Amino acid sequence: MLELEDALTRILAGLPKLSTERISLNTAHRRFAAQTIIAPIDLPAFDNSSMDGYAVRAEDVALAGVENPVRLHVIGRVAAGESFSGEIASGECVRIFTGSPLPRGADAIVMQEDTRSDSNDTSEVEILDAVKPWENVRFHGEDVKRGTPLIQAGERMTVGRVALLAAMGLAEIEVTRRPRVALIATGSELKESGQRLEAGQIYESNRATLAPLIESAGGVLKIFPIVPDHPTTTRNALEHAFAECDCVITCGGVSVGEMDFVKSAFEALGGKLDFWKVAIKPGKPFVLGELGSKRLFGLPGNPISALVTFLLLARPAILHWQGATETGLEKHPGTLAEPLNNPGDRRHFIRVRSDANGRVFSAGIQASHALSSLANANGLVDLPPHSHLPAGATTTVLRWE
Ligand code: AMP
Ligand code: MG
Repeated sequence: MLELEDALTRILAGLPKLSTERISLNTAHRRFAAQTIIAPIDLPAFDNSSMDGYAVRAEDVALAGVENPVRLHVIGRVAAGESFSGEIASGECVRIFTGSPLPRGADAIVMQEDTRSDSNDTSEVEILDAVKPWENVRFHGEDVKRGTPLIQAGERMTVGRVALLAAMGLAEIEVTRRPRVALIATGSELKESGQRLEAGQIYESNRATLAPLIESAGGVLKIFPIVPDHPTTTRNALEHAFAECDCVITCGGVSVGEMDFVKSAFEALGGKLDFWKVAIKPGKPFVLGELGSKRLFGLPGNPISALVTFLLLARPAILHWQGATETGLEKHPGTLAEPLNNPGDRRHFIRVRSDANGRVFSAGIQASHALSSLANANGLVDLPPHSHLPAGATTTVLRWE
């Protein structure tokens, strides 16, 4: 039985590289940059106004006030997207708008609200307040200098990073392709939702749980029908799934029972079992298999075991395949509102609920089939073997949503 870290290292170290592709920035959200991206231009690209108003020479209006308006001659107008070819001399100004380039000779913008003008004569304006030199001016390159690294290889494209690259005029970026992920549920007792349950049957729920998690990790998901517990059916299903996908995630059928066919069916296909069993609870019977460059992630069938092993072992692989540098779950600090115990000899990933103040509660029944507590949970706490954490202890909550 492997420790979790060793299992994860084995999984990630062996993953083959996937090819890269150039994609439109419009579809790049949540993808991972395959290369460092360098700023091709300065941002802003030119000095410009942050206000609607008048571009002036600050010294001309240094004494301006409501009681002491300073009258300036308006020599022109520059809208956003235009440029002004002249130069402002003493006693002159230019009508300007947010984002318009700063005319030559101007060193400040007086906001429109601090001016008074006659709508019939726009050639003159009264300035009612002083401005300091460079007030309301956005400087060329003050946000980003050309040549600055913007995004490192392996970083995820967030909304903010997409915005920055769009402002830089980048239309495409290079990313690693998303792995194709097959999802299979095994078990003769499983029924599709909407069907009538016969005695002893249950509704299949793991595919619905894992599907959004696979997609949010970047996997291109292909969901397969339920596979009954039968050696040839299992083998055929795996063969079909491996033909189409980079990895196959199965749930169920990896325990020690004589009705557990995933491992033997995978070997019958020519697959090699890399390891079986990880020292965690829930999720001990997880199995990793290799079929050439493809991978089998055999999750146990109990819903919480399937979720926990997916989050701790399969999700990092889907991310690592895409070149992601960060493959773990988000960690949030918290304080236990009640004691948590792990009397067992494996790490126990406990379902918890943490509130807005970081107070962490057990989410309810911790058995690996219990879904009420999963529905109530928003994270997991990793409890070491033979440990007792008292109320008030600081802890780390692992989050998947
Ligand atoms: P197994 O790992 O196949 O031995 O399954 C362990 C337990 O999880 C059994 O009670 C199964 O009925 C249940 N189970 C297996 N697969 C699923 C599934 N896809 N959805 C809901 N329960 C499942
Ligand atoms: Mg089963």
